[in-house]
Amino acid sequence: MTMLFVNATQVVTCSGPGRARRGAEMSDASVLTDAAVAVEGKKIVRVGPAEILLREYAEAEQVDCAGCVLTPGLVDSHTHAIFGRPRYEEQEMRAAGVGYMDIARRGGGIHSSVSDLRTRSEDDLFALALPRVLRLASYGSTTIEVKSGYGLSVEDELKSLRVIQRLGRELPVRLVPTWLGAHEIPREFREREGQRGDYVRYLIDEMLPQVAAEKLASFADVFCEPGVFSVEESREILSASRGAGLSLKLHADELEPHGGAELAAELGATSADHLAAISDAGIAALAQSNTVATLLPGTMVFLGKEKHAPARRLIDAGTAVALATDFNPGTSPTFNFPLILTFGVSQLHMSVAETLIAATVNGAAALGLANRTGQLAAGYSADLALWEAEDIREIPYWYGDRRCMGTWARGKACHARRPSDNLNYTHRHNSTMRG
Ligand SMILES: [Zn+2]
Repeated sequence: MTMLFVNATQVVTCSGPGRARRGAEMSDASVLTDAAVAVEGKKIVRVGPAEILLREYAEAEQVDCAGCVLTPGLVDSHTHAIFGRPRYEEQEMRAAGVGYMDIARRGGGIHSSVSDLRTRSEDDLFALALPRVLRLASYGSTTIEVKSGYGLSVEDELKSLRVIQRLGRELPVRLVPTWLGAHEIPREFREREGQRGDYVRYLIDEMLPQVAAEKLASFADVFCEPGVFSVEESREILSASRGAGLSLKLHADELEPHGGAELAAELGATSADHLAAISDAGIAALAQSNTVATLLPGTMVFLGKEKHAPARRLIDAGTAVALATDFNPGTSPTFNFPLILTFGVSQLHMSVAETLIAATVNGAAALGLANRTGQLAAGYSADLALWEAEDIREIPYWYGDRRCMGTWARGKACHARRPSDNLNYTHRHNSTMRG
């Protein structure tokens, strides 16, 4: 089936080389007017002047994008969507001044999600995760990375990864599974002195082989932070994971500069994520590597931190920067990827074009998919998002609003909604709304 997306006020293609964009390359999102996008089956076949495409694809089914902006589907390259109960009680503890590590020491944080997830069946977790992933997608994402990491035992990590696999089979959005068995050291390994090393061995000798054998994950990830996994332990786990055929990610330098970014660069990790506390040496290491710096400003806002990742310095040094939601029950319970773009502008001092490249092309690069998705260009996967906006700058501007009108993943419609009532409040400078 051929579809022709026509009448969009702007078509923002993000087109260019099928790799991560760096430095000044991130400033050009390629905004076209009077353009159309032709889709055949799962692929984009043509992007060009509407006048010409309307003639060439006269038989195509038309998707009327009047009054809207068309962009590539967003790529959310960092989520922890497989969990049981939410952890809203911690929000007030934090407001009262209890820190992240203190909440963890009091039995909250990741440990409480682990105890909870272990009691749940695969079906239960699937039923909880399905609407969450749909909701993430409803804000414009057509590719979503999902991590395990609240199981921390062979059985419970495999259960979490199987839930991701099942979601990927049932949903039109593209899901990328990541094994995060090294999210935390579980209590049963923390209780006795000297057991930390045993958990690292358990991850490498018992968990990883099963994850790899069942092909349940594309990536391995480690929470490299003082008090969790050291740089040496992270190197050991990630090296073994690479040996087992997995690509690498790293939670690095979130709270304290710890050498995580340098390790990610050294190992050729696909991405290093968080980086709010990255050192100068870490910035230099990433700038000289192919590792994407994935920044998660929503987490820092939700945690009430004033410190943010130095996006400007990273971009200016020539690092490829991506943005993602970090959707998780403890530190970033948001479905709203466009809100992260708002934070990209207001907290990280990025331009709108930079935030959009960070959420499309560079998000795809953070998943090793930059030659398949993240841009509207011939040969790319037909992953598109339609926004209730006349100008791309409205997406981060109407902050917290859900402006996404519809998404298509691999040519298949994921969701669609009617223009909301708030259109009445929006000043439309050229009232050409149709449909
Ligand atoms: Zn994370």
